Amino acid sequence: MEHSHGAQRAPAAHIDTDKLAQEMTEQFRQVLSTRRMNELTSRSVQSRSSSPAPRDFGTPQPPPVQNAPPSYSSLRNIPLVPTPPQDARSLRFRNMLHSLSNMPLRWENPGLLDEALRVVPLEQIYNEAEEESQILQAEAESLGAGKKAAWGYQDCVVRALMRWFKRSFFNWVNNPPCARCYSPTIGVGMAAPLPDEQARGANQVELYKCSLDHCGNYERYPRYNDAFVLLQTRRGRCGEWANCFSMLCRAIGSRVRWVWNAEDHVWTEVYSAHRKRWVHVDVCEEAWDKPRLYTEGWGKKLSYCIAFSADGAMDVTRRYVRNTSRYAIERNRAPEAVLLHIMDEIRSMRRSNLSKQEKFRLEGEDMREDRELRGYVISSIAHEVVKLSPEDILSGRTSSRSDPDAQKALEGRTSGNAQWIRARGEGGRGTQNQQDPNNQHPR
Ligand SMILES: [Zn+2]
Repeated sequence: MEHSHGAQRAPAAHIDTDKLAQEMTEQFRQVLSTRRMNELTSRSVQSRSSSPAPRDFGTPQPPPVQNAPPSYSSLRNIPLVPTPPQDARSLRFRNMLHSLSNMPLRWENPGLLDEALRVVPLEQIYNEAEEESQILQAEAESLGAGKKAAWGYQDCVVRALMRWFKRSFFNWVNNPPCARCYSPTIGVGMAAPLPDEQARGANQVELYKCSLDHCGNYERYPRYNDAFVLLQTRRGRCGEWANCFSMLCRAIGSRVRWVWNAEDHVWTEVYSAHRKRWVHVDVCEEAWDKPRLYTEGWGKKLSYCIAFSADGAMDVTRRYVRNTSRYAIERNRAPEAVLLHIMDEIRSMRRSNLSKQEKFRLEGEDMREDRELRGYVISSIAHEVVKLSPEDILSGRTSSRSDPDAQKALEGRTSGNAQWIRARGEGGRGTQNQQDPNNQHPR
């Protein structure tokens, strides 16, 4: 196409190029138009509260398309009417999500939160935050009048808290070392919790045997899920890390979410008042606002990422899976319309005691986030179209090129040892992932 304005054209070759360019433009237009249609329809679905639509006719599920993975369509912006769960599988999923949604409520204890702050070196954290936010402010000003700093002061407080938590406070546990001789240990299964372990909230205890034959010592690793107990034990895997850290974010006054992922991971989201959006925070990885970390960094495929807060619930999968054709896996725990219903249900439960004004504000926030999440799908599809080559269009292929965004500096997992990471298949592009079902620790 670079010859199109040249003086001497080679007419024979030129005609084909123009035709292909035209076809590409047409295809692009069609995709955008479909997106726009979906957006408009889903907007009218959202306004259903003003005129109650009949809910009982049952949303027809689109028939499975053969050549495309089913997950691909489930993450698209297809408008759905929330539908209550009917089948056993959907009901199980509903119960599980309801129970998971309780996690952030356990942190809503002002007395315990105040108490928790005693372990945090607040002065150091506030000084660091002050300094960073001044640097960001100066950076913004140097870019011109009216430019906004990348992050606000409270964001910088959470960032400083994250660095302290990861570098000086919490410890990672794969196999706990032998307390008697400091040798490595070997996992030998689960044990029943002792009364004092149970009293502190551990329902499961992992058991490890010292690798030295003549030592024979056993180490217990109780999985505490009380954030306030974890302030004392200060160790664990992602579950303990995310739980304790999210609670501390709450303690320093941030609005916080606990994000559950069906592929055995959990992390945090905090609300940035400065940016007016929720921000991904994974304290195990010291990662701030890197939602593509798990897919493009670790090379994982994800099905569900659901965020729970004290005043809401949201399916945030689209924030974490941008390239759906490569990183989404089948969402088969319930029909999508049922998941919407479950989210609505949890939201209204959490908000039942709030004032009308407060509910209205939160609904506005949900709608803004929904627009944000739909925006990711639109830009991902636009990206797929832009990278199509003329040959792809003629041969009907849709995603042959590598995604340039994937080349951004995202790396494999850093928390946990190399063997554990490989066993979970989270090593990213640099390592050989080997899924070994016999060597998998839960999160
Ligand atoms: Zn030992």
